[in-house]
Amino acid sequence: MAAAKKSKVLIVGGTGYLGKRLVRASLAEGQETYVLYRPEIGLDIDKVQMLLSFKQQGARLVVASFSDHKSLVDAVKLVDVVICAISGVHIRSHQILLQLKLVDAIKEAGNVKRFLPSEFGTDPAKMENAMEPGRVTFDDKMVVRKAIEVAGIPHTYVSANCFAGYFLGGLCQPGHILPSKDHVVLLGDGNQKAIYVDEDDIAMYTIKTIDDPRTLNKTLYLRPPENILSQREVVQIWEKLIGKELLKSSLSKEEFLAAMKEQDFAEQVGLTHYYHVCYEGCLTNFEIGADGEEASKLYPQVKYTTVVDYLQRYL
Ligand code: NDP
Repeated sequence: MAAAKKSKVLIVGGTGYLGKRLVRASLAEGQETYVLYRPEIGLDIDKVQMLLSFKQQGARLVVASFSDHKSLVDAVKLVDVVICAISGVHIRSHQILLQLKLVDAIKEAGNVKRFLPSEFGTDPAKMENAMEPGRVTFDDKMVVRKAIEVAGIPHTYVSANCFAGYFLGGLCQPGHILPSKDHVVLLGDGNQKAIYVDEDDIAMYTIKTIDDPRTLNKTLYLRPPENILSQREVVQIWEKLIGKELLKSSLSKEEFLAAMKEQDFAEQVGLTHYYHVCYEGCLTNFEIGADGEEASKLYPQVKYTTVVDYLQRYL
């Protein structure tokens, strides 16, 4: 049962792809919402305008910098809950350092009732055997988890599985974010199940959980039941929507790995994740244990977007 009192929430990385959705969901849920405003964004007019629009919608902007520990501590002291949604793609090597700085600030402030670090993907605790070089993402996220736990900070980790925009948009093909009406490359036999979640739903489930005692110090897994599908099933849904069968070819595991080695480091990191998801089924090959909860079961009132509904936007 969700707690009645609504917490004050600080969103770090609020102008980002997921962050802006977290801000919107937090405001929609009536949380007192604070958004970190980094002076470093300087003349980035889009970010500034976005922050101002959040303010118009009722959010409070808090100026603080990762280069100024005191400013972070002061920002954190204003709230009960901190959600970090800083980039995992463009600043991968810095993400760990920035999050550790945030952990230090939260520890010093001492008032935070829940911290949600920037996870929102595959559960890193299940990826101890992940391949190089992509394992760096999971290793880094585990270092942040350790720091949180050692500091005794109450937390929830959100395992959001596949962002729909990246995975459904490209019919699960890396390097594609729009579905073709002609051809699709199946990864292996295309039968491994993955889990796709609309980014707005990720944000809503995240906000729903921040005051929920059932997810304190646990992992919240986002597994909307209708969205647990193989690549083939996703393609079939798309084919039905467009009324046409796609030409299909297949990329074997070996071909995928060989092609991956030709890419630069950042690309290889992303491709490693596709490999584990689409060839190994790493999102669905385990049961949720006592240290986790499933979001659609806890929050049935969230009417999540199904894969069928999500794909309609590309017609
Ligand atoms: P973005 O790339 O959109 O960046 C989010 C925010 O990170 C930015 O808006 C910015 O915050 C902050 N940021 C960027 N550079 C810096 C910096 N140098 N110093 C401080 N802050 C910085 O992130 P995403 O929304 O794509 O990713 C959020 C999380 O979601 C990550 O943990 C990522 O791994 C995960 N993810 C998961 C996916 C999946 O399919 N499961 C797919 C994509 C991401 P500000 O607003 O302050 O400028």
